[in-house]
Amino acid sequence: MQLPAALLTSLESANGFDKDAFLKVHESGEQVTSIRVNPTKFEILNLKFKSEEKIPWARNGFYLQERPSFTFDPLFHAGCYYVQEASSMFLEQVLKQTVDLSKPIKILDLCAAPGGKSTHIQSLINQESLLVSNEVIKSRNNILKDNIIKWGCENVVVTNNDPKDFARLENYFDVIVVDAPCSGSGLFRKEPEAINHWSENNVQLCSQRQQRILVDVLPALKKDGVLIYSTCSYSKEEDEDIAEWLTGEFQIENIKLQIDESWNIVKSSNSCRFWPDKVKGEGFFIAVFKKTEGSDPEKRRAIKNLTEVSKKGIEFVKQFCIVTDELSFVNGFDGVYAVNKYLLNDVNFLNSNLRVSYFGVKAGELMR
Ligand code: SAM
Repeated sequence: MQLPAALLTSLESANGFDKDAFLKVHESGEQVTSIRVNPTKFEILNLKFKSEEKIPWARNGFYLQERPSFTFDPLFHAGCYYVQEASSMFLEQVLKQTVDLSKPIKILDLCAAPGGKSTHIQSLINQESLLVSNEVIKSRNNILKDNIIKWGCENVVVTNNDPKDFARLENYFDVIVVDAPCSGSGLFRKEPEAINHWSENNVQLCSQRQQRILVDVLPALKKDGVLIYSTCSYSKEEDEDIAEWLTGEFQIENIKLQIDESWNIVKSSNSCRFWPDKVKGEGFFIAVFKKTEGSDPEKRRAIKNLTEVSKKGIEFVKQFCIVTDELSFVNGFDGVYAVNKYLLNDVNFLNSNLRVSYFGVKAGELMR
């Protein structure tokens, strides 16, 4: 594996960079396989993987000793677990340390496909909280939607919008996660072919795009709301420089995180760097901020409302679904959808302002 010389030179000043160890871990050919179990769907899997090594920063995360053929496993297709890179599961610690997850919150995962972080967030928030899982690229939005469907969540709305469309939702979210598109150097060990696409010029382009995305989405965050920014790039231009630019340009503060020393995560200013020669995982960067400006959210009015399914229709649906008092059944794009009743106003509001591609759980279609 021939790592780009310009990358290695640029990393010399990066916090925690150990060139020899870094080269060695890339040359070793060692691969780390990790999964995250879906706690609502299959508690029993926690028992199945009990003998596997736990990922210390993610409650339902496990390292597997070898990589099985996931495509032959029905439990994989049933959304009982998600195959996810271990470092990126650190998002759990960031959320637990900075957000009161026992309260109902609105959270946006802006760059969400294929859905690793969204399915993780969904397992951490409560049922009265709402996750908007967004992906701008249409083909990737379909993959995201499929993964959300497999995970099985009645409090997620999947959208297919450009970050600037979220300007219509001023002061709306309590938390925004921007897992930004990046130059991808952190995944070179897993995907060596990505090395061919790396260039200093691309790092600059990615950095500019990351700034544009953040500028576009920041108005949608409430005052005192939490912004989580992450990349799988080692380049400072996409990591610490972006964090510094954010605090310099906007009314936001960088929040410091508590990290267990034994995890070997490198603190860099108030951010966290994951080096594959130090942690059992790939390259990753994450930082968290609190917005200190903004006004109170206005009353939201939906322009179009989804119609509720008739009593007769619900009687029919009851034959196939467990209908609890918490659920509303509405006529969605192509059938009957179940959604948490506390969230129906928000679903209507989002559906009036964004391109919603899925929400809640599709229960089926009523015909004749
Ligand atoms: N969060 C995802 C997960 O955990 O599975 C991975 C996200 S990936 C690092 C970045 C995503 O940003 C990609 O799905 C990509 O399509 C999307 N993206 C690309 N250009 C974008 C843009 N200009 N604005 C917003 N998202 C963009």
